[in-house]
Amino acid sequence: MINRPRELFVPATITDVYTYDPGEVRRVALTLPETFEVDGRSLPVRDRMLPGAAFLAKPFGVRRQKYRRRMYTRSNCADESPRVLETIINDTHKEKSDTSPWWQTDDLVQRYCTGGSIDVCVNYDETGSELVVYQNTQTVDPTTLILEADHEWRTMRIVAVALSTGITPFLSYLRYMKAGAFGAVDGTGGVHVTLVVSVKNPRQLMEHQALLDLARESPQHFSYYPVLTREWPEDWPHGKGRIIQVQTNGDQNPRVNLEPLMELEPNLRQCHVRFCGNERAKDQLILGLQQAQQVPLSFRSETW
Ligand SMILES: Cc1cc2nc3c(=O)[nH]c(=O)nc-3n(C[C@H](O)[C@H](O)[C@H](O)COP(=O)(O)OP(=O)(O)OC[C@H]3O[C@@H](n4cnc5c(N)ncnc54)[C@H](O)[C@@H]3O)c2cc1C
Repeated sequence: MINRPRELFVPATITDVYTYDPGEVRRVALTLPETFEVDGRSLPVRDRMLPGAAFLAKPFGVRRQKYRRRMYTRSNCADESPRVLETIINDTHKEKSDTSPWWQTDDLVQRYCTGGSIDVCVNYDETGSELVVYQNTQTVDPTTLILEADHEWRTMRIVAVALSTGITPFLSYLRYMKAGAFGAVDGTGGVHVTLVVSVKNPRQLMEHQALLDLARESPQHFSYYPVLTREWPEDWPHGKGRIIQVQTNGDQNPRVNLEPLMELEPNLRQCHVRFCGNERAKDQLILGLQQAQQVPLSFRSETW
């Protein structure tokens, strides 16, 4: 009989809280201990999360007044920062929002300043000798965003569309790819990633300067297009308005104008398109690609 990995929540110290937009968007880092004692045995905590995968944590829910299980895509990567799980979280402002507003509160900062922790899920196999950080998936398929194997992504041209905190899996990709020279061999070949990020206002741009710098340093591998939808400074040199524009004619046969996206990448048919954001925008993007006869080499997405 195969023993299924047992789920266990381990306290991870809050080692960073950075506010991009007060009350709206924050970056958080949770650091798991090197070892954790289970059933009287001290076991090492191993981090084998793949770029683009999500971890499971137990933040506090302000609506229900209890700790809830929630998934967060990691924005850094295991090779670079083992056991340090970084993510970016926004307040969803949905009627039933529970934990997402809590991440924006002073309570979190207070816990951070006093060495507080948040429980994070690891898998414990009773026959094994280690604890392994839980990840939501290990399968490359259309509904996940874990990165393809090294020998695959190295030759790909990827167009990644990120709405708000949907940038997290792609930040993880870029950190991982950069550490591997973007898959170039003897300075030639390698991946190309076009990252299109759509946020409401300049405060919500995440890792903006680092991404501008990366695009300047490695133009053969990376292009960055930040787009602001609601508020922008007069001298904003990048995109404005919606990247996926839906033109409804009554309610029938909506047409999706993908021109803003195709101006950035005219030949989407030769690209692998990735999307992270809400379900509706994903459906609109797929419809727009079909209507423009720009069905890409592959399409993978994650929505939440
Ligand atoms: C794989 C994955 C990765 C994610 N990565 C990130 C990330 O990097 N950053 C980020 O900010 N967020 C991420 N999320 C979203 C995050 O997990 C939370 O869902 C989000 O922050 C909202 O949490 P919430 O507690 O405020 O509200 P919700 O999770 O929306 O829940 C509020 C309440 O409504 C209920 N509810 C939710 N949906 C329904 C429904 N359809 N019908 C009935 N009841 C419902 C819930 O049970 C809960 O009681 C990710 C989600 C997934 C699945």
